[in-house]
Amino acid sequence: MQSALDITEKQIELLKTLELSEMCQTISSILTSEFKPKAVGVLLWDQDFESFSEEYRFSFGHHSDVMTEFMTSFASVEIDWDFGPTNAVVMKNPTKAEPLSEALNSLLCYKIEKSGNRVGMVLVAGDAGLTAKDLADSLNLYPLHHALSNGYEVAELRREANRVRVQYELLETDYQEEKRLNSTTGKQHSSFKVEQHDKERLVYEISNAVRSSLDIQDVLHTAVIKIGEAFHLSRCLVIWPMPDSHEYTVYEYSDEAITPGKQLFFSDDGHAFVRVAHSKSAPHNFSAEQDTFNKDFLSQFGFLSGMLVPLIYHDRNIGSLFLQDCTTDREWSIDNTALIGSLADLITVAIEHANLHEEKKQQAVTDGLTGIANRRHFNESFTKEFERAKRYGNCLSLAVFDLDFLKKINDTYGHNVGDEAIKAIGRVLSNSCRAVDVAARFGGEEFCLLLPDTDEEDALNLAERVRNLIYETHIEGPGNISASVGVATYPQHANEQDELFEAADQALYAAKHSGRNKVCAASHAAH
Ligand code: GH3
Ligand code: MG
Repeated sequence: MQSALDITEKQIELLKTLELSEMCQTISSILTSEFKPKAVGVLLWDQDFESFSEEYRFSFGHHSDVMTEFMTSFASVEIDWDFGPTNAVVMKNPTKAEPLSEALNSLLCYKIEKSGNRVGMVLVAGDAGLTAKDLADSLNLYPLHHALSNGYEVAELRREANRVRVQYELLETDYQEEKRLNSTTGKQHSSFKVEQHDKERLVYEISNAVRSSLDIQDVLHTAVIKIGEAFHLSRCLVIWPMPDSHEYTVYEYSDEAITPGKQLFFSDDGHAFVRVAHSKSAPHNFSAEQDTFNKDFLSQFGFLSGMLVPLIYHDRNIGSLFLQDCTTDREWSIDNTALIGSLADLITVAIEHANLHEEKKQQAVTDGLTGIANRRHFNESFTKEFERAKRYGNCLSLAVFDLDFLKKINDTYGHNVGDEAIKAIGRVLSNSCRAVDVAARFGGEEFCLLLPDTDEEDALNLAERVRNLIYETHIEGPGNISASVGVATYPQHANEQDELFEAADQALYAAKHSGRNKVCAASHAAH
């Protein structure tokens, strides 16, 4: 069985890219580490959701060639099985498909859906013994549905852009030929095709940036510049609110002849504009003379006309794309409006994917019960801080806290009350430390407070203050709780990282033995 940390790592891995083949490779490695299958296949449904796509089929493992062959014959089969509530089923010779090859006996199938829409299927050829429930239990832990449907959307937009690009390349050849002929007759030629060609290339370039870049800052930065340049805009902006916060980031392209306007969004009028923009669910074309937005605010940009495109993900507004013209009152054509819509879709998928990636990354370093850093994060910080202290000759203190009599609290008032006591300590610790300190839950009821650049005396004072705050905390049931604390400081008590931890732990032991609810310093003899 995999640990929760392994799972979070793999969840992050799965969200690292919007490139389908890489994503499916990760799915295969997840399944391989758990079930050692003979082959893994991922099939996505076509856009009509009737048959499987010929483009999006991926197979991995020892028998991947057999899986590929099977998926090819299987692609045209209408699927009408009952997957049941688990989303997984054992596939026994699907009637209309080719008979299963020997290597693929015991084939399991896991259905991927997102918001009621079909996305695809994961096929696993294993040995007898792997049940549909095992497969479903394992895959349900991962954001497969989310990842695959986003990857699919980007791949489709890119494919469409590619198709149109090829078409325009052909037109371009005709156009060059026409231009050559016209030059002999002296006729004028239009630049329409070239312009259109550039715009289709734009979708292609932005979708490339979206699917291959993990860094959302890069993606948004590229997107505003490319859109701004391609449409000869005065400014192109993306306003991206941080999830679960009132703060937002603004990315801006501005024409050379125009002053950047990004800062204006961080005034009171700017906040008001972002609030209204955030409530929109459909694109909105407007000129300076309008009533939706504050005219004075818009005039600060020198705004004449523009388009505000909300970035909508599953009925939720997750940001805005704002195109501004300061030199013309532009009428947007239907074609260009549709093109902007496609670009907004790409940006939306990239933002949503990045948000989920960030959330998972956060989860990987956070303790689920208390919300403070977990043991992994603590260990990483401890190593980093210890090296830094050694290099610069600074001191580093470590305080280890352990809740007193938790077993008794659990036995008397129940495990939930025990959890409340643990959460209370987490709160006190995170409220009591500086930004550079690291408060972490090290294990069940043991906490660590890492104090860079803090000497023994200051560390002991802080530990004493925190011990007191814990003692003042009231928990429904047991009333007061208490903790014992051991404090050790580099370089007084240890030369190495392990020794410092050991010294703090010894001091904690001493605090427990001297009656609990106490702070003890490491003994200098430990050096
Ligand atoms: P001491 O004062 O010596 O620290 O006594 P104690 O009872 O706190 O320590 P002991 O090591 O004897 O028992 C620790 C208990 O903490 C046993 C374990 O079940 C409980 N525990 C560990 N993790 C959690 C948790 O996440 N929630 C709850 N409610 N209890 C936990
Ligand atoms: Mg304890």
